[in-house]
This record gives sequence, C-alpha cells and structure tokens, in this order.
Amino acid sequence: MTENEEIKIDHLGDWKRTHDCGSLTVNDEGKESVLMGWVNSRRDLGNLIFIDLRDRDGITQIVFDPQVDGESHERAHALRNEWVIAVKGTVSPRLKGQENFSMPTGSIELKVTGLKILNRTETPPFQVDGAVDASETLRLKYRYLELRRPQVFSVFLKRHRISACIREFLNGKGFMEVETPFLTKSTPEGARDYLVPSRVNRGLFYALPQSPQLFKQLLMIGGFERYYQIVRCFRDEDLRADRQPEFTQVDLEMAFVNEDGVMEVFEEMMGKLFREIMDRAIPSPIKRMEFQEAMDRFGTDRPDMRFGMELIDLTDIALRSDFRVFKDVIEDGGVVKAITVKSGGAAFSRKNLDELSALAVEAGASGLAWIKVNEDGWQSSLKKFFKDEDKNGLNEKSGAGPGDLILIVAHKRRVANESLGMLRLEVARRMELIPVGAYEFVWITKFPLLEYDETEKRLQAVHHPFTAPVEEDIPLLDEQPEKVRARAYDLVLNGTEIGGGSIRIHVPAVQERMLSILGISPEQAQVKFGFLLEALKYGAPPHGGMALGFDRLVAIMAGVNSIREVIAFPKTTSATCLLTDAPSRVDETQLKELGLRTDS
Ligand code: ASP
Repeated sequence: MTENEEIKIDHLGDWKRTHDCGSLTVNDEGKESVLMGWVNSRRDLGNLIFIDLRDRDGITQIVFDPQVDGESHERAHALRNEWVIAVKGTVSPRLKGQENFSMPTGSIELKVTGLKILNRTETPPFQVDGAVDASETLRLKYRYLELRRPQVFSVFLKRHRISACIREFLNGKGFMEVETPFLTKSTPEGARDYLVPSRVNRGLFYALPQSPQLFKQLLMIGGFERYYQIVRCFRDEDLRADRQPEFTQVDLEMAFVNEDGVMEVFEEMMGKLFREIMDRAIPSPIKRMEFQEAMDRFGTDRPDMRFGMELIDLTDIALRSDFRVFKDVIEDGGVVKAITVKSGGAAFSRKNLDELSALAVEAGASGLAWIKVNEDGWQSSLKKFFKDEDKNGLNEKSGAGPGDLILIVAHKRRVANESLGMLRLEVARRMELIPVGAYEFVWITKFPLLEYDETEKRLQAVHHPFTAPVEEDIPLLDEQPEKVRARAYDLVLNGTEIGGGSIRIHVPAVQERMLSILGISPEQAQVKFGFLLEALKYGAPPHGGMALGFDRLVAIMAGVNSIREVIAFPKTTSATCLLTDAPSRVDETQLKELGLRTDS
C-alpha cells in the first residue's frame, strides 16, 4: 500500500459550505466558517501547518494548530497539493506583519477546528499553482488541471459574463433566441463541411452547419423578425492559431432593416459590452469606411486603426522619374505606393530591409525599394533616377523628413496595397508603434460582391451567395460583375475582423440570377438551395443580419493571443482533441451499420 492509500477518505456528510475562498475578511472575525477546495500550497512547520486553500473564487489561508484541534492537525501532515478538503474553523485576524494585502483574504486566516479529506490526488503532471510551465500538449491532455488555474478560470468567467451581457442586451431589444439544426444540409461559407453519415438513410449525409445562415433567413420568412443565437459553427479548414474546427458565433438576423438597422444594433451592443465588462467607452457611432478606401489607405480590409502609417500613392511622381521598373509598372496600369516609417532610418539596417523585402516578395510584390531621408539628401538606389524637385515632392507627399524611411512597392494596385498593408503591420510590430490597451473599431462596408477564383476559373461570392448587391450596381452584374459592390459589412477591432454580415437577397429572381452568375446551374441550385428558393417565393420580407466571432471577441477582451485559450476544450492545429483522443477509430459494427468502409 502506498502512503496515499492509507489515508481515509471522508464523506461530505451534512457539511455545508458557508463561504467561498475569496470572500472572508477582517469584518468576518470570529465567524464559524466551512470552506471547501483544493490544497494550493502548504507549509508544514511541524507545530503549525499552513495551507492555502483554493477554490474558483480565491485563496484563503487555513491554519492547523494542535492547540485548537489535535486530530485535524495530526491528519493535516499528510495533505499534499491538489488534495480536496473541507475545513471548519474560526475566522481570525492574521498576526501583525503577516498580512498579505495583495489578496482580498490576506488579512485573515481560518483556525481549523475540523477537517474532512474529500479526495487525494496522484502527483499532477504539472503544477497547478505555478507559471505556465508545461508544454501545450501536456496542458491540453490534462486540460481540467489547467482550468483550475485562477488566471485560466478568470478567462472563462469573463467569457460567461460577455455572453450573459449579450443575451441581456438582445433580449431587451426584442430578439428571440431560436436554436437551429446541427444535422443539416451544407451551407456555403467557403469552407469544407463536416459530414455525418445517416444510418437510417444509408449512403446519405448530413453536414454540420458552417453557420445557421439559411435557417436564420427562413426564420425571417417565418415572421420571427428578430432572431439571435450564440451558436456553434463547424468548418473543416486547415487550422491556424486563431481557427478552430468548431467555434462560436453570436448570430443574428432582422427583418425590415437596411444596413444601418443591423449595424446600429451591433454598435449599441459593443458599447454595452465594453462599458460593462471593460469599463470603457467606445466612440459612437463607430467609424465607417468603404472597402476600396480601406484597401487604398491601409492595404487590407481589416485595418488596424490604432496607428497611422497610411499608404501613400506616389504614382504621379514616380512617372516623372527615369526609373524603368516604376515606369513599366505604371504603363501597365499599376501603381507606385509607399509607407513612411517615422524615425525608421536608423531603426532599419540593411539586413532588416532585406528581411522586409523578402516579406514583401512573399506577399506578391516584385521587390521593395527604400529611401532613407537624411539631412543631406536621399540614401537610396533610387537617388540617381529622380530630379531634385521630384525628390522634394516625394518627401513632402510622403510626409518624410530627415531620419525617416520610405518603403516603396510598385505593382498592380491590389498587390501594392496588400504587400504594403502587410509591411505596415510588420514595421509597427517591430517598432512597437501599437499602443497597448487601445481598442479601435471600424466598419468596413461595400465589399465587392464577387471575385474571380483563378483556380476554379469562375466567379465566387466574397461574403456568401445570399448577400444583396448594392442597388445602383445591379446593371453591372452581367458586364462587369467584379465591379458590383455588396451590401455587406464587417466589424473590425484592432485589425481583426470580429464579425460580418449583409443585407440579403429577398427577391427570388435576384437570388436565382446570383446563383447562375456563380456558375450554379438551375438544377444544382435546386438540389442545394431549392428549399430557400422556394421559401423566397412566399412573401420574404427584406432582411439582413450579422454574425460575430465570439471566441475572437472574448480573446481580445480577455487580452489573450489565441482563441484556444478561450475555449474550454479546444482542439490542436491538427484538429485533434488531446484530452479525449478524438477523432478516433470506431467499431467495425458501427461502420457496417452506416454502410461505410475506411481505406486506412
Ligand atoms: N453567416 C455569415 C457568416 O458566418 C454571417 C452573416 O452573414 O450573418 O459569416
């Protein structure tokens, strides 16, 4: 028998917890209290044994003193970290000088008069009370131990408070929570579906929803007018740090609204969330910017507005230079654009500039030109190609003075924008230009409705095929479909897209036309979306909505980097659950029932 097994485990019996471990203070002096929790740490001084008892609400120091209760003191020698105990005792002030004012219970201790050992533990694979020390693999395998850590728990408490606040707000605005099916038919949100084989209907499959998009539209046709759901969505994508195969959306839909109607609800909701959870006011209304402006000024459709360094168009000046590369690009319809890095001259060595150049090339640029503006003129390979007056003009247009660095890309407008947008972020990170603790929201509106997919050689919906085109652009649908703007909007916070939505097509003929532009034949449309096309015929109201990436929002509000940290049982980047070992093999009989065979 091990030492562990000799210990008698007590029943809880009729003991009742009176307080949590975070609440007792000097105001409770003399109270009889019953606390329950885990041994966070212990100091056995032989005569006195001190234990920090932890539950989800905090830590209280408890003292076993043979003078107070000999039996508990005797048994307390055996206690080890993470054992589960219940103690009865008297709240007493700590001795002068022994207080710990950094914790709410730091001025008292509980003098133990009774102990129950409720459970013991194997030696945990990592210390619960400690810095994040173990590898992520170990922490995910024993996720429940990690969840015991107060800093981890606090993230989930915040997540809960955020969802409660959202529910309270939406309930107050007349939204109804309605659940939609998980076993359903695939809706195109651009990812692969998770499929579920049907046993009853052999050979047929359900798809797990990538979002409740079509159901929420059907609820509008069903006359519900204001729907919401905090709902799980499933997308079988290659994972990155901020993606999970299943994730949560705050999904809503409204009838009889235009873009403003939906955006105003979200703005008000974000205002309440930031006020109540973060104790911060956010500007109202939130700035709005059209997609093309965002691309031109920030090189991305999710601009980080916490700092400037906007993209500058130098095409006109570059055209006056003798630099062939620039001129060729411009004659080919391209642009020459730049960002100015204030005080970047000294901050970026030649090696650093080579690194930036490599990143720009990775982002599609043909190369990166740079100018260090010095007191005595330019330091740059472009120097000899520009007339003095154009040098001055370029400096002025770039807002660059001595000590500053100008980074230039010449390419098609889209590539120039995107590569400089990426460099803007990289430079800001390297130079620590992003203010900590700032929250900058912006709406991006009027996205393109369609984009050409080079691999599939056909047009694709940028948002999804149910998004309405901007009315005045409809005549362009046939001739210049890529010019058509969508009634779509994204909410961006600190350079992260936290939500997006659109006004939907509610007229059947327009929806059918849209599907045909996307290369979906009437027969295919019938098979995939027949039910929606049918429903649209029966008095569909104008409607629109939006979905917010709940995990991402929580991660930002909790100040953590990855959405894995705000999901209780997350999956790895290879879509496995280290705790349960899912996905896993199933019995032959299960496969047989489903009429399936695996080839591995
Ligand atoms: N269903 C969309 C998405 O998941 C959001 C929306 O249009 O409401 O991206």
